[in-house]
Amino acid sequence: MTYEMPKLPYADNALEPVIGQQTIQFHYGKHLQTYVNNLNNLVPGTEFEGKTVEQIVASASDGGLFNNAGQVLNHTLYFTQFTPNQKRAEPTGKLAQAIIRDFGSFAGFKKKFDEASVTLFGAGWSWLAADKDGKLYITKEANGSNPVRAGLTPLLGFDVWEHAYYLDYQNRRADHIESLWKIINWDVVEERYQ
Ligand code: MN
Repeated sequence: MTYEMPKLPYADNALEPVIGQQTIQFHYGKHLQTYVNNLNNLVPGTEFEGKTVEQIVASASDGGLFNNAGQVLNHTLYFTQFTPNQKRAEPTGKLAQAIIRDFGSFAGFKKKFDEASVTLFGAGWSWLAADKDGKLYITKEANGSNPVRAGLTPLLGFDVWEHAYYLDYQNRRADHIESLWKIINWDVVEERYQ
């Protein structure tokens, strides 16, 4: 199996000013491409031949294969969850109800998610994820890890590696996190919550 780059569902400058064109060109075009290339080089000859990226991330032991598979999965979910034409600032339906049930309100969820994203030390990801019964969790993942490692389904992920925001926001991670809410495609996130 060859692992592929996800297709960007928007032009590389379409998310400006939230995410600048140059950031997309480096983050998607260089960083993610390198993770995909590394994964394609590392898998052949291992027990993971023919496995999906999710299967590798769920079961590989720590190391290069896990790190690169994790980053392919993370960035595929990340780049496909954005839209330059946001229809609504919050989810609706089943996901909206679950957020209210598990976090009290959308504002309460957002506050906790922002806090997780801003306080994560070093490089990593914050995720909204669901277990098999639909219960929601906010997780902080170090480096290239992903909630599938804990048996959860990832729904929404913020990349807090500096490469995700440094060209646009330098050290101002909190400002970057706050602006990301303007480009979330809630249709996509809701679809992941099934
Ligand atoms: Mn990244």
